[in-house]
Amino acid sequence: MRVIDYHMHTHFSGDSEANPREHVLQAIKMNLDEICFTDHRDFNYPIDSFELDVENYYQTIQALKEEFKDQITIKWGIEMGLDLEHQEEIEKLIQSYPFDFVIGSIHVIHHTEFYYGEFFKGKTKEEAHREFFEETLKCVKAFDCFNVLGHLDYIVRYGPYQDKTVDHAKYQDIIDEIFKTLIKKGKGIEVNTSGYKDLKICGFPNYEQVQRYYDLGGRIITIGTDSHTSDRVGENCLTVAKKYQEIGFEDVSTFTGRVKD
Ligand SMILES: [Zn+2]
Ligand SMILES: [Zn+2]
Repeated sequence: MRVIDYHMHTHFSGDSEANPREHVLQAIKMNLDEICFTDHRDFNYPIDSFELDVENYYQTIQALKEEFKDQITIKWGIEMGLDLEHQEEIEKLIQSYPFDFVIGSIHVIHHTEFYYGEFFKGKTKEEAHREFFEETLKCVKAFDCFNVLGHLDYIVRYGPYQDKTVDHAKYQDIIDEIFKTLIKKGKGIEVNTSGYKDLKICGFPNYEQVQRYYDLGGRIITIGTDSHTSDRVGENCLTVAKKYQEIGFEDVSTFTGRVKD
């Protein structure tokens, strides 16, 4: 089982100041087999700007790839906010550049976001979580441009609730539908190790959900730290790889030109 970090942000993302070179050095230090940069692009994000200077981002990562080619495999990707209100622009952007890998993430629903809490207004936790998974299902059905779905239960990070945890059993029918759709379309999931900060014992999603995905036939999986600073690159990636092995996966998936290696 290879150990990879396939979800990292740098100063090309609106919410990070990290130097991509530092990410590479940390990845080598952490003994990772392969990494992929996945800076953010969200169309029309309600508050912050998630524009992306794709050309400059591409040139920078290409130069690093060349410089470190004897030490680590470096891929160039993007974390694309899947938003049904911008489907055409999103698919077009992905087609326009030679990305190796695309994470599809749900950060915005009906022009409301989670970080500042707008999405949760006037909703019970159950209503908010159900809507989140229903919208995720719509997105994975509608979009084709991504390789893996980012942080499946990302909503667990946010919301004005004392107990933010997601009770997956309540929405398991929808989550299963999400998994089945992904599997049918040849797409995967990631475990996002930033979840270890909030949940202590697992990433996003938890291993019961990863097991569920496996049992339904899913075999495409990546590991990502969602690092916005270099010190987090590679964090808990080995732990996740070991868990994957216990579940039964033979290896993680890596990508070139948006095709599985
Ligand atoms: Zn994200
Ligand atoms: Zn991210």
